[in-house]
Amino acid sequence: MKQFAVIGLGRFGSSLAKTLYSMGHQVLAVDISHENTQRMMDDVTHCVQADTTDEEVLKSLGLRNFDAVVVSIGQDMQASILTTVLLKEMGVSFVIAKANSALHGKVLERVGADKVVYPERDMGERLAHSLISTNILDYIDISPEYSVMEIAVGERLADKTLGELNLRAKYGVSVMVIKNNDKIQVAPGAGDWVREGDVLVVIGKPAALQKIAL
Ligand code: ADP
Repeated sequence: MKQFAVIGLGRFGSSLAKTLYSMGHQVLAVDISHENTQRMMDDVTHCVQADTTDEEVLKSLGLRNFDAVVVSIGQDMQASILTTVLLKEMGVSFVIAKANSALHGKVLERVGADKVVYPERDMGERLAHSLISTNILDYIDISPEYSVMEIAVGERLADKTLGELNLRAKYGVSVMVIKNNDKIQVAPGAGDWVREGDVLVVIGKPAALQKIAL
């Protein structure tokens, strides 16, 4: 069981806090608004109403030894940046901050955020990919160069072995998982068959992934 704090209980923060709690972790949820903390009472371990830009208040929360603290204040950029600075100054080892824009994200990185997330941008990208091809079920960027994609196997790829498809040599794409309903094959080999209706989890460069998903 891990100990997390989520600061800022907007749409993103509240959903994150609830999910972590439902997975069995300890979650401290913090927001400046009384209404927002009240709303979360039954969904997290503790709720505190506090302005996290106030150094003394923030210190009194005792966040130093938490596994991670997530700053999910988006709109009030100043509050988000200030909170992040103070958390790092206090010695919190892992601070994740939500950015609403690229510039906001740059500043968060500069002031010491260990990870910056862009949920709206990422969700937009994922949706765009799944709209381009009905075979693309999900899409995640894992670095500027590589992405992971879930694709539904259509006629073109079906009834061949991975060896016959030869995706790695042809496109530089590796198949990590073959899923068929509840049957999941991890790290499949050249002799494994791909059938229509299977779902492949593949990794590669975005342009190559688009080609095989057509
Ligand atoms: P989302 O887009 O996820 O809904 P918002 O930026 O709208 O994110 O929500 C941010 C939340 O952070 C709001 O609930 C707001 O009350 C809270 N918040 C803003 N400033 C502070 C602060 N100084 N201290 C604590 N919480 C804050």
